[in-house]
Amino acid sequence: MDVSALARLIQANQPCVVLTGAGVSTESGIPDFRSATGIWAEFDPAEYASLPAFRADPAKVWRFYKPRIELLTEAEPNAAHRALAALEQAGFVEAVVTQNIDLLHERAGSRNVVEVHGAISTATCPACGSSYARGTVVAKLKHADAPACDSCGAILKPDVVFFGELLPTNAIERAFELARRARLLLVVGSSLEVHPVAALPEETLIAGGCVAILNKGPTPYDRRADLKLEENAGKVLGAVADALV
Ligand SMILES: [Zn+2]
Repeated sequence: MDVSALARLIQANQPCVVLTGAGVSTESGIPDFRSATGIWAEFDPAEYASLPAFRADPAKVWRFYKPRIELLTEAEPNAAHRALAALEQAGFVEAVVTQNIDLLHERAGSRNVVEVHGAISTATCPACGSSYARGTVVAKLKHADAPACDSCGAILKPDVVFFGELLPTNAIERAFELARRARLLLVVGSSLEVHPVAALPEETLIAGGCVAILNKGPTPYDRRADLKLEENAGKVLGAVADALV
């Protein structure tokens, strides 16, 4: 059955690096951004998640992010996050590269997480560069619609990658390095449409590694993957962790 095929691939191809997208967090009640019912179908990202939008009206961008930060604070890691953390702890997963900004991999216990699109709950002052931790940002939002910098009063920018903004260099370099080293790149809950993350499977394949994909819906790499599963991520990964750990 599919679960044992995936477990065998993981066992036989080390190191295994996992790449996760929005699909891994939907079971935690976090809506994805790009699907037909996703957030960007309702809100225009050019208006709420781009650098020009933030510069023009940072308070408006925070009106969009504030309920999302509250939702993320309440969301809990699901079976897929927990299984990946258990597989890492048992030595079967080297690292998780994630497009998600929700911190659920860390909260499930994953240690080696590379966040290529940033994370929603920390923030940085665009004027003076001061950095603010998650708890501080959440506390500021209890008293204000948009959090302001203690030092200079400017409105903080959430540390997520906005449209039109470069990805964090260190994270993306680390992601590519991991993809090249991986004997197996396991893609979970990503349709591999957003670049440059979408290019990671190519790096693994060129370096002689293989790719497995666990995603509901097609990806550009389906035909080159050793295994493609269109199933519930929590169920499959939970069973794989049960089999290996
Ligand atoms: Zn400042």
